[in-house]
Amino acid sequence: MAIATYHKKTIRDIDVCGKRILMRVDYNVPRDDKGEPTDLTRINGTLPTLHYLLKRGASVVLMSHLGRPKGERNMKYSLANLVPYLTRLLDTKVDFCEDCIGPKTEEMAQALQPGEVLLLENLRFYREEEANDKGFAAKLAKLGEIYVNDAFGTVHRAHASIAAIAEYLPAVSGLLLEKDLVMMSKILTAPYRPCVAIMGGAKVSDKIGVIKNLLPKVDRLLIGGAMANTFLHAMGHNMGASKLSEDYVELVRELLQNDIEKKIVLPDDLIVADKFDNDAHYRNMGVGEVPEGWMALDMGEKTINTYSAIIRSAATVIWNGPMGVFEMPNFAKGTEAIAVACAKSQGSTIVGGGDSLAAIDQVGVNYMITHVSTGGGSTLEYLEGRRLPGVDVLLEAEE
Ligand code: AMP
Repeated sequence: MAIATYHKKTIRDIDVCGKRILMRVDYNVPRDDKGEPTDLTRINGTLPTLHYLLKRGASVVLMSHLGRPKGERNMKYSLANLVPYLTRLLDTKVDFCEDCIGPKTEEMAQALQPGEVLLLENLRFYREEEANDKGFAAKLAKLGEIYVNDAFGTVHRAHASIAAIAEYLPAVSGLLLEKDLVMMSKILTAPYRPCVAIMGGAKVSDKIGVIKNLLPKVDRLLIGGAMANTFLHAMGHNMGASKLSEDYVELVRELLQNDIEKKIVLPDDLIVADKFDNDAHYRNMGVGEVPEGWMALDMGEKTINTYSAIIRSAATVIWNGPMGVFEMPNFAKGTEAIAVACAKSQGSTIVGGGDSLAAIDQVGVNYMITHVSTGGGSTLEYLEGRRLPGVDVLLEAEE
């Protein structure tokens, strides 16, 4: 049986009625040239927590980062544009404060009436935020009576609004953070079997730790994307001009040698192109057939069928990272097929990471995925077995 292990207090475990809540969210949304948000997934994810709090007469002070302003007040990274979207989604009064600390901000926070919301300006306009500065955290703490973290995408970072803040206010988890961690912990503790992990993307450096930690826990680990090139190269296949991580070949070879149960599954065939371009000439070839100067940009038909069959008959599936250069339509077939296989799997599916989320969106299957994780880096660090500073600081739940 899948037993989730999440032992932190949530907003359900404390009295929030009439309280002023200081809530860390991840509104680092993608934006167009005019700064308007192009995707509201991250905002929508926080709505259950916000509705829960507002319905109980709490008022909420929202704080987030946006982009990398590097400690400077750069209006390109202002959060002000989100106010109309929040107002519409929450159907309540949402004010904006042009700063995230200071007397004026405190005044606006204190003036909030039950059911009202105040959105603060970008936390990263202050260098102190990323430095996990205690003085800065103390100033933020003046804005609320209870701290709620509902930003799974940020909990792997020890920043002032995520870590140090908990020294000044009772700190609990929001419903989105709880959901992300409960779903993820099922994979690491006692998943329904067979349990299949799918890892793709380009950077082996980011995922090698995850693979090592997941391998003993899963039944199959399917590898795709440029990462698979490094594995195939380590097995002695000539990969032509394919993108791969030379620095990790030795480590990967060791991993393959130690995989006695043959849990790691690699592509049998690849879509190989004569240049890194959507208009390149390309062919479906066996893994040992990549010509000099050509490069693998996607997985082949046979591999798509093998991987899809494994995914569809799994009881638990976790997917992170694209299977090819899915940004180019001619090399998106493998990634899109995996998205569809996840959607049609007989088991529960968890998908995380920006590119995989874009792929499930591209083929329109978001609503068929059991859990779409809001984390990227934080998902990987959690699956790697690392501690998450933003979770560690939250109050422990009573047994
Ligand atoms: P990552 O940030 O490590 O998850 O890598 C994501 C990127 O990997 C995407 O932009 C893909 O285009 C790229 N990618 C996936 N497969 C390949 C490949 N076979 N060759 C080159 N780039 C790839």
